[in-house]
Amino acid sequence: MSSIKTINCAVIIAIWLSAIYGYTGEEATPLDNNKEPVEETKAREARIWFLGHCGFALKTPSYFLIFDYIEATRSKRYQWHEDSILSTGYIDPEEIKDLKVRVFTTHEHEDHFDPAIFKWESQIADIEYFFGWQASDNPEYHYLLGSRAVWQCEDLEVYTIKSNHAGVPEVAYLVKVDGLVIYHNGDYQGDYEDDITYLKTKADSIDIAFLFCVWQAQWKYYRVNFELITRMQPKAAFPMHVRIGDEDDYFEPFRSTYEPMMQGGRVVLTYNTRGISFYYNRDQITQD
Ligand SMILES: [Zn+2]
Repeated sequence: MSSIKTINCAVIIAIWLSAIYGYTGEEATPLDNNKEPVEETKAREARIWFLGHCGFALKTPSYFLIFDYIEATRSKRYQWHEDSILSTGYIDPEEIKDLKVRVFTTHEHEDHFDPAIFKWESQIADIEYFFGWQASDNPEYHYLLGSRAVWQCEDLEVYTIKSNHAGVPEVAYLVKVDGLVIYHNGDYQGDYEDDITYLKTKADSIDIAFLFCVWQAQWKYYRVNFELITRMQPKAAFPMHVRIGDEDDYFEPFRSTYEPMMQGGRVVLTYNTRGISFYYNRDQITQD
C-alpha cells in the first residue's frame, strides 16, 4: 500500500470522514485548484482484458485497473483454467506485481464480488481497493458510500452513482485516468437521467464503457444504456453480464440496437471469451 504515501493528506481525511460519517456529498479537494488536466499530459490509450461476466482489466500508462473480478470457484460460471493468467482471463498477481493496481467492485453479489481479490494484497506492493458499499472495516480500503461519492488523488479520479434495486447498494463507476474516461455500470439501474446529467459534469464523453447487456426497451437497463450512449457517446462500449450459453441471443442484438446511436463509437463483443483482449488508442478500439 505504498502509494498511500503519495495521496494528499486532506484527501485521506476526507475519505475517513466519508467512511465514518457516511458523508455522501462531493468532497472539495485542494487538487482541484492546481492539478494539471490529465487529458493533456498522457496518451489516451489502454489495453483491455475480459475477465469473465462483468470483469475487466485495463492497463493504462499509469495504472492497472480491475473491475468486478470473479473466479470460477465462487461464481461457477466459468471453468477454472489451468493457466490462470491474464491472457486466459484471470489475475495472476505475479504478472502485475510491479504495477499500480486499483481494484473496483460495484456491489456485493457473488457475480461481481469475489473475496479472491484480497489474495493479491500480499503480493502487490501498490494496490488499493474501492468498494461501492461498506465491504469491510479495514480503514485502508476506499468505501464509496452514499448516492454519489467522489475519490480523487493527483492522477486518478473516481465518481460513483448508485442504485438499490436488488436490496443492496450497487454503484456504477466513472474513472478518469491518463486522459481516459472509463465507465463500469455494474448492475446500476438508478435515477439515470439525473445521474447521467451529474456524470456529464465530470466528463463530457466516455472513452470506454462497460454496460449491462440489455437491449429490449421494456427493461430499465435499456433506458440506462440509451441515455448513457446518446448523451456521453462512448467510443467503445462493451456489453457484459451475459450468462454462459446466452451469447448468441444477447451480444449481437446489443450491437445492432446501440451502435447506430454511437457517433463513430463501436460496440465491442467479447462473446464471453475469457482473456480476449483489445487495444484502445485515442477513440479507436481494435482486438489484440
Ligand atoms: Zn449482476
